[in-house]
Amino acid sequence: MRPTQTPRTYRVKSFGCQMNVYDGDRMAELLAEQGIAPAAEGEDADLVVLNTCHIREKAAEKVYSDIGRLKREDGTSPLIAVAGCVAQAEGEEIMARAPSVKMVVGPQAYHRLPEMIRDAAAGKRVTDTDMPAETKFDALPRRRRSGPTAFLTVQEGCDKFCTYCVVPYTRGAEVSRPHGDLIDEAKRLVDAGAREITLLGQNVNAWTGENTKGQAIGLDGLIRELAAIPDLARIRYTTSHPNDMTQGLIAAHGEVEKLMPFLHLPVQAGNDRVLKAMNRSHTVESYLRILEQVRAARPDIALSGDFIVGFPGETDAEFEDTLKLVDAAGYAQCFSFKYSPRPGTPAATMEDQIPLAVMDERLQRLQAALNRHQLAFNEASLGKTCTVLVERKGKHAGQWLGKSPWLQSVHFEADAAVGDLLEVEITSAGPNSLGAVARMAAAA
Ligand code: SF4
Repeated sequence: MRPTQTPRTYRVKSFGCQMNVYDGDRMAELLAEQGIAPAAEGEDADLVVLNTCHIREKAAEKVYSDIGRLKREDGTSPLIAVAGCVAQAEGEEIMARAPSVKMVVGPQAYHRLPEMIRDAAAGKRVTDTDMPAETKFDALPRRRRSGPTAFLTVQEGCDKFCTYCVVPYTRGAEVSRPHGDLIDEAKRLVDAGAREITLLGQNVNAWTGENTKGQAIGLDGLIRELAAIPDLARIRYTTSHPNDMTQGLIAAHGEVEKLMPFLHLPVQAGNDRVLKAMNRSHTVESYLRILEQVRAARPDIALSGDFIVGFPGETDAEFEDTLKLVDAAGYAQCFSFKYSPRPGTPAATMEDQIPLAVMDERLQRLQAALNRHQLAFNEASLGKTCTVLVERKGKHAGQWLGKSPWLQSVHFEADAAVGDLLEVEITSAGPNSLGAVARMAAAA
């Protein structure tokens, strides 16, 4: 295809968090609705959307190398759109540095892609990083396709302004999607085959809304209503902030059977001085108290967290506090990263930036501790019977892969199909997955 023709095929490449994956899926649905087909594996797409993540260092540089790789031998490029958080944060610079990019579109404006493509196909270069009043969700096509698991964005943006984070600048202020839209979209996803829905938000537990009786409800109220959808078997939510863990949400973990026993609750550090410098506005003690309350509501709950090592000024003793918190929490899974200065964030200009070698050493020690707890959690599942949602085929004939209620990856052999809920008995446990034998089909 040459620059001026309307694209016939597309490829959306999403990087980063689940919300970016969700946005990537929505952009693909939007393009499909324009009659543009997904490019086959290995096929040279007419239009490529790079849906970028801005969280890690060199994120922007990575975008330029991805753009460079799209150039063809004859020197031409497909129609390139850069979307996501790097587009929002560095749109103008991308347009200046990468002439082959014809479109830059922010996370709140991608519902305008069809008209941007028309302009770009006519030879214009267009940028849209607005945070429009109208929400993109009203303009996006209705969800028609779903696998056994689906994401549902319920909340966007963040008002917390942690000093190391770009999200409040790239995704804007916290916005909760209307209750009615969410119930409708969830029902459509279930009609399209979803058995499990994960509610997404940068601060998903900050979601608020009004139910059909006009009563103000929080995320727990929404979860209770979604649980009433007959063929929806499982509900999850991510990512939460400790300060938005209400008593109602904690109680829901003990009362709503369809709410899976898994909580991802980032904390980032185990020392109050560091948490203050991060502007996390909670303490280690208040965080551990929430874990205690959630465990009281649902004793078998699997906990997950996020940690950053090497935040500016973090001392050896303060890092030891993080290791103590890890042992106190006993995480089933956890994400851990080295601090990386993000342009425009307060922490990027803080004194006492930690040398890379020190960060590497701390990350190694932290991950060793986290892996120990993760393996212990998986080994404690040995001999247990649980329900697994069949997600896809495994490597071997007759082998299937799925997730346990505690979000553990499970492989097993069975006469099954995608979307089945199967009772299995856990027979082996490794650091990242479990082996199991199928017992019988679980009650729907
Ligand atoms: S809570 Fe903090 S880390 Fe999370 S998205 Fe908001 S500013 Fe970023």
